[in-house]
Amino acid sequence: MRAAERRLSELDAEAAEGRRMEAVGRLAADVAHDLRNVLTALLGFSTLILEKASDAGTRANAQEIVRASERAAVLSARLLSIGRGEVVKPHVLDLHVFLSDLEPLLRKLVREDVVFVVQLAKDPIFIAADETQLEQVILNLVLNASEAMSKGGVLALSTATRTVSAGKRFSGVLVVAGEYAEITITDTGVGMDTATLARAFEPFFTTKAAQEQSGLGLSTAYGIVKNSRGYLWLDSAPGRGTTATVHLVCKQANA
Ligand code: ADP
Ligand code: MG
Repeated sequence: MRAAERRLSELDAEAAEGRRMEAVGRLAADVAHDLRNVLTALLGFSTLILEKASDAGTRANAQEIVRASERAAVLSARLLSIGRGEVVKPHVLDLHVFLSDLEPLLRKLVREDVVFVVQLAKDPIFIAADETQLEQVILNLVLNASEAMSKGGVLALSTATRTVSAGKRFSGVLVVAGEYAEITITDTGVGMDTATLARAFEPFFTTKAAQEQSGLGLSTAYGIVKNSRGYLWLDSAPGRGTTATVHLVCKQANA
């Protein structure tokens, strides 16, 4: 075979390999979507049992189904991002449409003794983001907030636009001046002492039962936000609850 012919057949093989990878990715994404639907049903029915059952044993069992489904929801979000090849495809997104679509799932994930309040700013907010990744950020923060309130409480998710002027710091970090979409997730839970707060973003750091938690929620969320040149920080004190704030660069709707 001449060099040019050899190169051509190599290119053919590469293209075939690319198509195979794409097919595998699509399959993973399809499975993740189907899994999401199954989970929604599982969460819905187990929540119904929780609401209706008066016997403590039945309620405890239903609560376990809810917990297992929560973990599976996080896994399906991860599968979805693998399915999309981990390639971040940010596009301009209406934040409020995105959050409203996600709200039913969040509502099911939050503990039943927690009051979940969503307060969206009056005007639409546009950002450039990858939906799957942003979903992981919100899911992880909302789950942490919910898990921090073992005796119930209030979980608030709100949005706003913030103009940050030059030289401004949030939680010690200098923020590039500009217009930001702000998402805050506030809980009235146990809060964190300074030692926990200092380590919260470390991969695998967890204060929860080891077999249940990965300790990857915050580090994953932080990595995603950083990759999109945004900011994520926590305000917390023991017994005073926690606020997680995300800043993402605002976009024009037609950008
Ligand atoms: P995991 O939830 O699997 O433990 P994360 O990375 O999501 O891992 O969080 C790391 C740790 O940070 C948690 O174990 C917990 O100690 C603390 N933490 C995170 N969010 C909150 C919160 N809203 N309230 C109190 N503590 C929190
Ligand atoms: Mg977590």
